[in-house]
Amino acid sequence: MSYDADLIIVGGGLSGLSAGITAVKEGLNVILLERGDYSGAKNVSGGRMYVHALRKLIPDIENAPLELPISKESFEVHCNNRKLYFSFEEKSDNSYSILRSKFDRWLAQQAENLGLIISYSTLVTNAYREENGIVLDTNRGSLKAPLVIDASGVTSVVFRFLGLRNFSPKKWMLGVKEIIKSKENEEGEAKTVIGAVKGVKGGGFVYTNKDTLSVGMAVIFDSLPKSEVPAKDLVEVFREREGIEGEVLEYSAHAIPYYGYDNLPPIYDKNVIAVGDSAGFLINDGFTIRGMDLAIGSGMIAGISAKRIIESKNYENTEIYYTLLKESFVLKHLQLALNRFKLIEEDRTLSIYPEVICEVLSSMFTVSEERKYLIDEALSRLKEKGISLGQLLIDLWRGVK
Ligand SMILES: Cc1cc2nc3c(=O)[nH]c(=O)nc-3n(C[C@H](O)[C@H](O)[C@H](O)COP(=O)(O)OP(=O)(O)OC[C@H]3O[C@@H](n4cnc5c(N)ncnc54)[C@H](O)[C@@H]3O)c2cc1C
Repeated sequence: MSYDADLIIVGGGLSGLSAGITAVKEGLNVILLERGDYSGAKNVSGGRMYVHALRKLIPDIENAPLELPISKESFEVHCNNRKLYFSFEEKSDNSYSILRSKFDRWLAQQAENLGLIISYSTLVTNAYREENGIVLDTNRGSLKAPLVIDASGVTSVVFRFLGLRNFSPKKWMLGVKEIIKSKENEEGEAKTVIGAVKGVKGGGFVYTNKDTLSVGMAVIFDSLPKSEVPAKDLVEVFREREGIEGEVLEYSAHAIPYYGYDNLPPIYDKNVIAVGDSAGFLINDGFTIRGMDLAIGSGMIAGISAKRIIESKNYENTEIYYTLLKESFVLKHLQLALNRFKLIEEDRTLSIYPEVICEVLSSMFTVSEERKYLIDEALSRLKEKGISLGQLLIDLWRGVK
């Protein structure tokens, strides 16, 4: 049996590159196939990366093209003509704003320096099993390996070509983003906004880069028909409502996986494993969207698992990947975020609760002859909207748990 490599990785985003770096460090002979002309050409991200996983992958991140450390967290809730805003400041190097086109290109360079072979402009068009391995058809010919890592992002092309998954946009979010030219910024701020566009389940974000802003929205697909503005105008309307002006340097739209811990798609099968978005690893817990650190973390675990699978020569036994994932932050954090993940799907979370908070605050700052205790005001507003005290307490518990 002849193979072209020990391991073939499909997709040169963060998860594929992390898997490739780890696997070559483990001594495997690896080829990575990327459809873009370079890594980062096809990747979209709002651009706030928690760097704990990156530090394990590349211990010295001093030279990485990170933008600004995030030292200010802001939250904004729009409800009709009212707006609630609060922020929290802390000097920290736990997360940075990044621009994916620059960052992924740099990471790919690190991978190539370590010996990873990357074939750019190579589109995988089919995958099928042959004897003890997987054949990948591409626009440049076919390749075969005993083990394949699917790092192709939300469309998970290898799993789909192998018939292990269906195309399931119902489990996706739409992410739209613009990069806006701004003044020189010294401080990194991550702002989460809810309620800026009515009808949609999801929210907006604004991240501060060195001399640009990343502005965008992430919205559950199913809720788009109820949106007050069409999907194509989402980011523009959001930017206007945030009062952000400036030259639009880039616009991009991309699907985001939205499965949740209890509903993940198949992530391993004979001779194949999935990482990052392709495995549905995304956390949306209301105050942050996290996919990048999960992509790097799962990629690293896949690289380690690949070494063990190849050494054992039992290429069908890929369960080791799942075993290692369960012990890692990836599945543990996904599990921890499940309650909030589900809460966001409820209609009341992003519409009724923000409205009630704004109405109560409004009555707190309005003096008239009619005046109630705030708690009575809150309970009567909730009752008007059909929410019982019991429901509120359950939701509060789910939100903080
Ligand atoms: C608008 C938006 C905002 C976001 N904000 C954040 C954030 O602030 N913080 C955060 O942590 N996460 C965020 N995310 C999520 C994050 O971007 C993803 O979780 C992360 O990029 C996943 O990386 P990946 O390598 O798994 O997939 P991708 O980055 O999607 O990489 C997949 C790669 O596979 C290649 N590919 C696909 N099909 C083929 C094929 N057939 N043949 C060859 N190559 C192929 C693609 O070209 C691409 O390079 C955001 C996502 C979006 C869309």
